[in-house]
Amino acid sequence: MITKNKLSGRPNARLTEQFNHSNSEPVSKKAHKTKSAHKKRISTKFMIALLILLIAVAGATFGAITVVRKNINTDQPAEEIEPIEDNIKNDVEPEAAEPEMVEEVEVPISEDMQSIQPITNITSSNPTIKYGRLMLINPNFMVDGDFIAARKSELISLSSTYGISEYHSYNGDNLIDKEAGAQLARMLADYTAAYPGHEIQTVSCFRSIGTSCGRLCMPTGASDHHTGLTCDLIDPVYGDSLDTDTLDQHLEWQWLKANSYKYGFIDRFPLAWSGGPMSEPMNVDGEGSTGLYETWHYRYVGVYAATQIATGVYNNGEYDSLEHYLKARGLVTDLLSGI
Ligand SMILES: [Zn+2]
Repeated sequence: MITKNKLSGRPNARLTEQFNHSNSEPVSKKAHKTKSAHKKRISTKFMIALLILLIAVAGATFGAITVVRKNINTDQPAEEIEPIEDNIKNDVEPEAAEPEMVEEVEVPISEDMQSIQPITNITSSNPTIKYGRLMLINPNFMVDGDFIAARKSELISLSSTYGISEYHSYNGDNLIDKEAGAQLARMLADYTAAYPGHEIQTVSCFRSIGTSCGRLCMPTGASDHHTGLTCDLIDPVYGDSLDTDTLDQHLEWQWLKANSYKYGFIDRFPLAWSGGPMSEPMNVDGEGSTGLYETWHYRYVGVYAATQIATGVYNNGEYDSLEHYLKARGLVTDLLSGI
């Protein structure tokens, strides 16, 4: 029977010798064999311990590399990433939905020639009348009563031709140039398609007389509404009055400004060209500022010119004014003296 040493767990040497005495082999040989077996056991145990140690070291090393890699990749413990992203999202103001855009337009060069062809045989002392769609009428480029009356006779009715209602006349008639009317009808139909429930109506298109009202008064002969290419527009969903600041806040109105050039229309009096405080009457300076900011006033100039104005070809990529555009193209010489 073999007992074990309580401390080492190895077989008790003395008892092992007694056990060996009962064997038939010579003592010296047995002792040698016992020593050899003992060495083998120690060696085996040593190898097992070494193997376990190696496995442990390898495991620890692999674990350490994994942690280091993780830290290199994220520089943050994984569980901290989500809350940081959440904070970023919460700190950023919610983005306004982009106004829905219509397909980009390809403008053939021939459109440019059409824009500056006379669209009327009416004579006038205003030198820009010969540019047709690009005619310029303002306090420095005025027209007389004969021109106004003759121009009116050339126009078509938006109500009867396209079913576009006049919300309010404001001394005007719901009349427009034939080509401009067709393009306006397309634009307003697309507006309604983009924003169901919204329908733009006209407030005033052609005017035979000027307006004698507060800050936006315009003497007869100086109004852009004499061109027959213009309409003031309103979406009754926003109320019954024209208000530049209120309208500009609406996505739908931003759509109009962003897309109207594709139909040949421009925002005729954009804020950037208003020249600061309102002037009475409209006050055009030598560079093309107008003194007016009327986000409801849309003017037809043809797709080619509208594209150049809206994309700021002559104004460092920023929305142009009609006055500045005509001067930059060399179509007018002096914005102050009307030549
Ligand atoms: Zn107007």
